[in-house]
Formats: sequence, C-alpha cells, structure tokens
Amino acid sequence: MAEKQKLIVVTGAGGFIGGSLVSALRQQGYQRIRAIDVKPIGHWYQRFDDVENVQLDLNLKENCELAVRDARDVYNLAANMGGMGFIEQNKALCMLSVLINTHMLQASRKYGVQRYFYSSSACVYNGDKQHSFEAPSLKEEDAYPALAEDGYGWEKLFSERMCRHFHEDFGLYTRVARFHNVYGPWGTWYGGREKAPAALCRKVIEAKVSGKHEIQIWGSGDQTRSFMYIDDCIKGINLILNSDILEPINLGSSEAVTINQLVDLIEEIAGIKLRRIYDLSAPKGVNGRNSDNTLIRKYLNWEPDTTLRSGLEKTYRWIFDQYQARQRGEPGVVAESAVTG
Ligand code: NAD
Repeated sequence: MAEKQKLIVVTGAGGFIGGSLVSALRQQGYQRIRAIDVKPIGHWYQRFDDVENVQLDLNLKENCELAVRDARDVYNLAANMGGMGFIEQNKALCMLSVLINTHMLQASRKYGVQRYFYSSSACVYNGDKQHSFEAPSLKEEDAYPALAEDGYGWEKLFSERMCRHFHEDFGLYTRVARFHNVYGPWGTWYGGREKAPAALCRKVIEAKVSGKHEIQIWGSGDQTRSFMYIDDCIKGINLILNSDILEPINLGSSEAVTINQLVDLIEEIAGIKLRRIYDLSAPKGVNGRNSDNTLIRKYLNWEPDTTLRSGLEKTYRWIFDQYQARQRGEPGVVAESAVTG
C-alpha cells in the first residue's frame, strides 16, 4: 500500500501516451500522480481531476526541478513529435527536445529520483538498414553505426545515450524503450501531427461521410511498418521500468504490414472500398521497418500482442465518434472519470 503513496511524475501527460499512462497508473491504484505538459490544461487529450495537473515548459531547467520534486518515479514522455509530415519539416524543433531530457535527467539526479523512464523511438535506427520494402526486423544493435532519422531520430539517440551515461557515471536508475509507431484512442488524429493509422482512419471516415470514395496515400503504399496498440505500449513501459534491462530495448509490434494492407484493414472495418491516389512527393519515411522482439521476449517473456485488426477496430470507432462530435461543434468524447477542457 505504501508503494501506491509514492509520487509518480508523468511528463507529456497532455499528449497521447502520457495521458494513457496517467489513466493506467490511476487504475493501478497510485494515489499521488503529477501530470505535466506545456499545453494549457484545457487542451490535454485526457485530464483527470484527482491527479496534480501542472502546466510547465520542461525546456527550462527550473521547471524540471519543480516537476520532479519529491518524485519516486519519473516517466519522461514529453517531446516535440508527430508523424512523418511533422518530423520532416520540423527538424530543429524536434532536436530542441534534447533540452527536456537533459534538464529532466539533471533535476532527477539532483532531487534523488529513484527511477527514470525515457521514451525513445525506432527512428534511432540506421537508415541504411531500412531501404528494403521487405520490412527488416531491427535489432537493438542496428542503431549503430549511427545514421538515425534526421532531426527527431538523432535527438532520441543522443538522449537515450545520455540516460545510459547518467546511469554509468552518476548511478541514476534509467530505463529506455524504443517505441515503434503507437496508435489507439486518444491519439492525435488531425491537425498535422497525426501518424499513419489515425490519419488513414480519418481519411476513410471523411470519404465515407462525404460520399467521395477516394483516398490519398503518402508514397507508393508499399512501405512496411508495424503498429503497436496503446495498451501494449503502457504495459511494456511498466514492465521495462520494473526490469533489469539496462540497454535501450524495442517496444513494438512485430506484425509488419504495408501501408496498402493497413488501408485494406481500415476499409474492411469501415465497410467501404476506395479509389487510391498515391502522392509520391509526400513525406513517407524509410521503406521498411519492423521490430525485432527477440530481446524483449528473452527478458520479459512477453511482447506486444494486440492484433492490428482488433486495435484498429477500437481506434476507428473512437476517431469516428471524435469526427462526428467535431462536426457538431462539440469538444469530443470524454473518458470515463476524466474531465476534458
Ligand atoms: P504527443 O505529441 O501526443 O505527446 C507529447 C507531449 O509532450 C505533448 O502533449 C506536448 O505538448 C508535450 N511537450 C512538448 N514539449 C514540451 C515541453 N517543452 N514541456 C512539457 N511538455 C512538452 O506524443 P506521444 O505520441 O504521446 O509521444 C510520447 C513520447 O513517445 C514522445 O517522447 C515521443 O517521441 C515518443 N514516441 C512516440 C511514438 C508514437 O508512435 N506515438 C513513437 C516513438 C516514440
């Protein structure tokens, strides 16, 4: 019971994964949660009135010190991020997230935080190993020699490396997961930062509602990726924080699909068939990428296992409700026992 009284800090709590993590920690019985984001609290995707919600810009060292005060665990999920369209056009902004992790690590060391979690990304992997459309399964060692995704990926690689050295040099308990495309309810689904599953669900819904039965796809549609359902991501974060895994580890699904297959699945769920228009000049990222889960299976005897079909069904339904609410000028659906602004 005393365990559940420890103060837990989640940064990026106004965003997709941070909000879902706060929700899960509440369900696990944690009674002292500090949720932090730079966005005005009214704009958080999920907000719970029984946790300490704080608006802070964590680029600033003094704010990171306020953020971690008295905390036992810190989950650092705050970053400037988005889908390919966003990260290709905002490289400097993405790299500036290095300020967040730098100051959060320093503050955590100064204030005696016991456990620190950092959310890295599959964008750290060497681009030369991702030319094939055959979806190479990327092992943790494939991040080196380093040739990360320009901007966003380099920042993640540097920051995960800094976590390693804060552990080695200063004894700070750090754990790092490399997330592979996370999707699910409460994720960004419009506005320019949305990632492929949410963007494609929205486009299918728009086509269905408007009666204009066509869809624009970025690239040739042959690019391969894997997509992890949010519940698996949250479970993996907890398992990894509680584990002995010292090196950055993949946290992703190993069910690779092409973007065309992803569209097939969403069309099936929506009960519609659309004419596909391929925009070959749009940002599309690497050709193929999948998560090699050998290491996570070895350490945890588990890997993300929600099928893409079942995760997409829930996500499509959620985006459909959001879309309809937005059409009616309403703020959107509200989580059970959550307050939205
Ligand atoms: P998100 O954009 O929904 O959430 C990130 C949150 O961080 C946002 O709410 C944003 O306002 C906040 N933030 C940004 N700058 C901040 C600052 N200076 N101070 C305080 N808060 C700040 O993104 P997400 O999908 O929830 O991602 C969470 C983490 O997981 C990020 O570190 C991201 O890079 C990583 N990640 C996500 C995915 C994915 O597929 N969603 C994949 C790989 C890695």
